[in-house]
Amino acid sequence: MPQHTPLAFTRTQSTRPTPLAERKAVLENPGFGKYYSDHMVAIDWDAEQGWHGARGKPYAPLTLDPASLVLHYAQAVFEGLKAYRHADGSIWTFRPDVNAKRFSDSAERLGLPELPHDVFIQSLKELVQLDGDWVPSAIESSLYLRPFMIANENSLSVRGADQVAYYVIGSPAGPYFSSGVTPVPIWVSTQRTRAARGGTGYAKCAGNYAGSLAPLKEARKNGCPQVLFLDSEHGQYLEELGGMNIFIVQQDGNLVTPALSDSILPGVTRASVIELARAEGRTVQERPISLTEVRDGLASRQITELFACGTAALIFPISALKSEAFSYGHDSAAAGPVTLALRKQLLDIQYGKTTDTRNWMLRLA
Ligand SMILES: *Cc1c(COP(=O)(O)O)cnc(C)c1O
Repeated sequence: MPQHTPLAFTRTQSTRPTPLAERKAVLENPGFGKYYSDHMVAIDWDAEQGWHGARGKPYAPLTLDPASLVLHYAQAVFEGLKAYRHADGSIWTFRPDVNAKRFSDSAERLGLPELPHDVFIQSLKELVQLDGDWVPSAIESSLYLRPFMIANENSLSVRGADQVAYYVIGSPAGPYFSSGVTPVPIWVSTQRTRAARGGTGYAKCAGNYAGSLAPLKEARKNGCPQVLFLDSEHGQYLEELGGMNIFIVQQDGNLVTPALSDSILPGVTRASVIELARAEGRTVQERPISLTEVRDGLASRQITELFACGTAALIFPISALKSEAFSYGHDSAAAGPVTLALRKQLLDIQYGKTTDTRNWMLRLA
């Protein structure tokens, strides 16, 4: 990595911030990914100077040359984490060091420069210090932070860019489940996979998402809000959803989740669920899970709960796995006790309602 010294951020306040009444209305019902806060962070990189020009500034459209590498070869990576308001008004985020490390790993895989981890953390602080007013205070609400890096060099030649830009934007987010945590059916993509051995599956890159969108359309057509992908080699083992990892809960209260590989994204929520579950004495196996195991386990009630997890939805109970050829589980299943208990433990840590014994929370403002 080129530099570890903190970059000095220059700061330009918006001269036309969103009027208070409008912001309040947005924060009362933000939904997800619909509104953006008044500012953003930008940092430039080129092969000669390294990272430079760190700045907090008014939120504004980017100007990109039509020949920008990112538009043609998808040299782009991103992160997703949240800023949570605690009861005393302070603003915190959850395990940003893990996101910083993953952002570096993703960048490396995509041939992009690595952003020093301290600069990543500083960039989150900069945005939240400018836009603290955009962090909602209702439970399960947050300011979703989206750091991302793109190759903005003008070139159609196929190679890693010598010029890139890093940005952070913020989008207020309401509770994912507005009317109670209700299990949802998931569509299993039996023909199309999202990642293969040696590929980019473990990197949080734009291209992985692009590849998941046609299967997602198919899922929605079949009444499922999310897709589960299988392994590309056998078409038999559970990998993960388009943007969430998956767990099964067994009758004995123990958990199983697919082992990480280069085709599965290492979720911060996944790692945290594993740690919390083990701390309360549950066994958590990380190993291959076949579709057959899930089918038989659900039928015999050896498997009692299924859930997905990721920053946006936190923990997302699954009622059934469906495809053209099968349907395992029951549409009507209520969220299971283990799923709900793990979800509550995480929420309590994130919203400062319990002691953060693992030092997972970092204060941003
Ligand atoms: C972001 C993401 C996840 C979840 O990761 P978290 O760090 O828990 O938010 C899982 N799978 C994929 C493919 C992702 O992009």
